[in-house]
Amino acid sequence: MSVNQFIKPVTTERKDCLYIGGCNLYELAQKYSTPLYVIDEETLRRVCHEYKSAFNDYPNVKMMYASKALCTSAIARILDSEGFGFDTVSAGEIYTVYKAGADMSKVLFNGNNKTQREIELALDLNVGRFSVDNFYEAELLNKLALQKEKNVKILLRVTPGIECHTHDYIKTGQSDSKFGFDISQIDKIVELILDKYKNIDLKGIHAHIGSQIFELQSYSDEVQILIDELNRINNKFSLNLNELNIGGGLGVKYTNSDQPPSISDFAKSIHTVLNRCKSKPVVYIEPGRSIISTAGVTLYKVGSSKILPNKKYVALDGGMADNPRPSMYQAEYTAEVVNNTNGRSIEKVTLAGRFCESGDIIINDIELPELYPNDVVCIYNTGAYNYSMASNYNKAERPAMVLVNNSQSDMIVYRESLEDLIAKDNIPDRLRK
Ligand SMILES: *Cc1c(COP(=O)(O)O)cnc(C)c1O
Repeated sequence: MSVNQFIKPVTTERKDCLYIGGCNLYELAQKYSTPLYVIDEETLRRVCHEYKSAFNDYPNVKMMYASKALCTSAIARILDSEGFGFDTVSAGEIYTVYKAGADMSKVLFNGNNKTQREIELALDLNVGRFSVDNFYEAELLNKLALQKEKNVKILLRVTPGIECHTHDYIKTGQSDSKFGFDISQIDKIVELILDKYKNIDLKGIHAHIGSQIFELQSYSDEVQILIDELNRINNKFSLNLNELNIGGGLGVKYTNSDQPPSISDFAKSIHTVLNRCKSKPVVYIEPGRSIISTAGVTLYKVGSSKILPNKKYVALDGGMADNPRPSMYQAEYTAEVVNNTNGRSIEKVTLAGRFCESGDIIINDIELPELYPNDVVCIYNTGAYNYSMASNYNKAERPAMVLVNNSQSDMIVYRESLEDLIAKDNIPDRLRK
């Protein structure tokens, strides 16, 4: 089976208690405290290998990792060592992968409102490609590249008009999306680049149709539209553009009701379309969630409970500040108790977060062994869009993250301290006591 079709990291074992990467999760919770993000290196590397081998038969595929799913220096180091490039969307992500020693020629800078400062940083660090989203950006980028006497390689971000069945907030490919050029605007931007923007070197087109996608037909349709569009542009303007970035978005299995296609079926559906195409463009794939989600779990400690006639809440020591997805997207998760619960009866509970919002629920109605204070609960599939979306809401310190492998655990993000929380505060002189 494909890693994205598992709920749990591939090294998960149940002995007296739960182990991942050979590490006893109860001991990790004691050693590093909770909430704690845990990343299983073996799962992460295995999914990288799966992607590389699935796309191996097509001559010209380049793998990139969508950093926004989880962007830390150690994670960037691992992805770089696997030969992945990086899809980045901010100065912060570009800086992180740069400092981690990534090959900057394999970095793409993407986003619908890149600021002048961000564009300048990306030019200075020689980011390999810009995905130009709109007319304003094209003009600004050309101007800044001219000032720096650089020639910048770009793709045009286009909206291929694909509707896929995912949450509205994570759909991006439909025609009225805020991202990219509508197909009807492409000729105009190509003309501007050819006639006026001499410091821009157009290489191809880029699209991304959404996230947590299960329907392979959406990808076949997308790739066909992109190939047709690339051919049309080449014919009309006598060009030889040969780069196609098809985005990311492959889904993962959060609960048993999710049935995502495997990475190899995903690759096959794209190959089938590419094989019908005479020119063999360079194809970029940039998954985020399906690379890192399954490798990550979050550990929480149980605290208070509230028992009502027909509902029982058990509160954990984290919630929407470290994982905003349930309150933002009604996202669902699966959980398991880490410590030994032999002999306890099973009951239906709602795992609540500790933050001051009624919507801060981690899992609604899940069957678990009876829970007591200081039990440790593991939430699966939290590698993507958890730490990267975390906040300090309620002035919470962001949790630590550890990397586990071969029974070893290493801190890769330190837990924030109370001092960190006020480190950027300032009290103006006139308010001093
Ligand atoms: C978010 C995003 C991705 C990654 O999406 P996943 O669902 O995490 O695979 C890839 N490309 C672009 C342009 C994105 O915005």
